[in-house]
Amino acid sequence: MKIDGYELNYSEEELDVMLNQQTRPVELISKDFEGYKNLSENDKKAIEHLVNAANIINDVALEQDNPLNLKIKEGLERASLRSSHAEKALDLFHCINGVIGFNGIDREPVRIVKEAALLPGRNFYPDDLSVEEFHRILLTMGERGEIDEIRKILSSRTMVRRAGDVLKAIDYTEYFSEAFSEIANELEAAAYYCTESEFKEYLGWQAQALLQNNPDMDMLADKHWAKLQDTCLEFTISRENYEDEITGTVFDNPEIIKLLGKYNIKVVAKDTLGCRVGIVNREETEKILLSKKMLPELAKWMPYNNYYTQSSVAEEDLKQSMVDVDLIALTGDYAMCRGGITAAQNLPNNDKIAVQTGGGRRNVYHRQVRFSRDEERYKKLLEQLVDPALHPYVDKSKVIVFVIGHENGHSLGPGSDYQNSLGMYKHIIEEHKANVVSIASIAEAAKKRADFDRETLRKIYASWIVGNLFLRAKPMLSQPHRVADLIEFNYLLESKALWFDDRKKLHIDFDIINMCMYKLLEKTIEVQLSKSVEAASEFINRWATWGEWSRHIAEIQKSLGVKPYIKIISHF
Ligand SMILES: [Zn+2]
Repeated sequence: MKIDGYELNYSEEELDVMLNQQTRPVELISKDFEGYKNLSENDKKAIEHLVNAANIINDVALEQDNPLNLKIKEGLERASLRSSHAEKALDLFHCINGVIGFNGIDREPVRIVKEAALLPGRNFYPDDLSVEEFHRILLTMGERGEIDEIRKILSSRTMVRRAGDVLKAIDYTEYFSEAFSEIANELEAAAYYCTESEFKEYLGWQAQALLQNNPDMDMLADKHWAKLQDTCLEFTISRENYEDEITGTVFDNPEIIKLLGKYNIKVVAKDTLGCRVGIVNREETEKILLSKKMLPELAKWMPYNNYYTQSSVAEEDLKQSMVDVDLIALTGDYAMCRGGITAAQNLPNNDKIAVQTGGGRRNVYHRQVRFSRDEERYKKLLEQLVDPALHPYVDKSKVIVFVIGHENGHSLGPGSDYQNSLGMYKHIIEEHKANVVSIASIAEAAKKRADFDRETLRKIYASWIVGNLFLRAKPMLSQPHRVADLIEFNYLLESKALWFDDRKKLHIDFDIINMCMYKLLEKTIEVQLSKSVEAASEFINRWATWGEWSRHIAEIQKSLGVKPYIKIISHF
């Protein structure tokens, strides 16, 4: 079957298998949810407008991600009125929120239409632009003195297109001017209705940032957003740059590096937009704030802490807000579930001006994502891979402790300067560091927290090992979180903190986990402090190996049926 001249890649039968047997739902809250019913009528009206904004942002993200996305989506929407085949293809499109993407398991990407291609520059760059040509054009432009244009091309907020034999950059506020002005209108309307002054103020700044070609406006919006701690509504426009695989390649070219240095040109990969709407869960948020109190002490506990400043751990004022949120909408980048869905997020990232000029960060935990695990399958996994004596320690409710520690972990350790100098490995090393900080710091936190007794600690360790380190497939370098998990699995295995008996069941030596993880943290911080791409590469090659036990675990995971697709069910 063809959609606007493009051939659907899967038969209806294949789609049935993917959607019915390989997809798990993540159900967001509905209007029957208690926390929603308790809102004032005006705040409910504000939410309607925020959801409208979220939906427009989804289209912006689709345009950034692949040149075929919007066309195929619209074609499928039209065709699904009369074809169940198209309807199912549209369902799968929504799962990955795009025409092509990896599912986290298969080596080949999932394609909605046969013609869809994986583009290293997504739709940020012309689809036929190779890395070699990109570099050649930049150098030509350098010789011609077009330095300002190069600056724009290498900025995080432009779409790049051909202009004769060179390239030109179009600021997002221009390229997406129509969509951005609609989003701004929705935010203004939401600000009009919402009852909380701080939130209202943030929405005003955010609307302005969408209308002006001025990164300082993003900075101001980010700073107002990051401070929000006591509001009941949650709205985020995320800007993260994990998708663009072209911009960063300039660091592989010594001639371009010279050019960048000479004119002091900043290079930041392109941001993909995402949007989240929700309601803050007060009770659970209070629990999360307990961990925030520990951050200044953990900063002193970090290895080599006298060699670097930990930007977000200022002496008296800790500029980190944290909320646990019941989700209403996840769109754009958040809904591009290509091998997973975000359980929590700490923004802005280090590449953002707000953070570089002293603004804080805001950490948002996604409740409905946490709750979406397939319990039946998980029980079978334990039976096959874990010593029965450990079963009582694998406790779903303890997973959040690791997640909180991971997010806090990003606030500790060497800053963005060190992180970014690791080039293509920076995300792997940073995500890995956050994991290791999380697990290694639990024993330290336990010195101050009565609720972290010995049994609880064991539950946190065991739930993390089984829940996170039992991988479903060999990760690719483009999956920083999974590569990080693999590094930790191998390190603990080699340190004999975990082992498998002759019945192939997992055992954990709880007495040495903490010591092993602190040692691993030292090694990891050494890599960041080295600022050496080679050191990062060596570290990853040494520890991210796909060994006998990883293969065995992945086989069991596969035999239990892997559900790589995620269907976000929204009720608004
Ligand atoms: Zn992280």
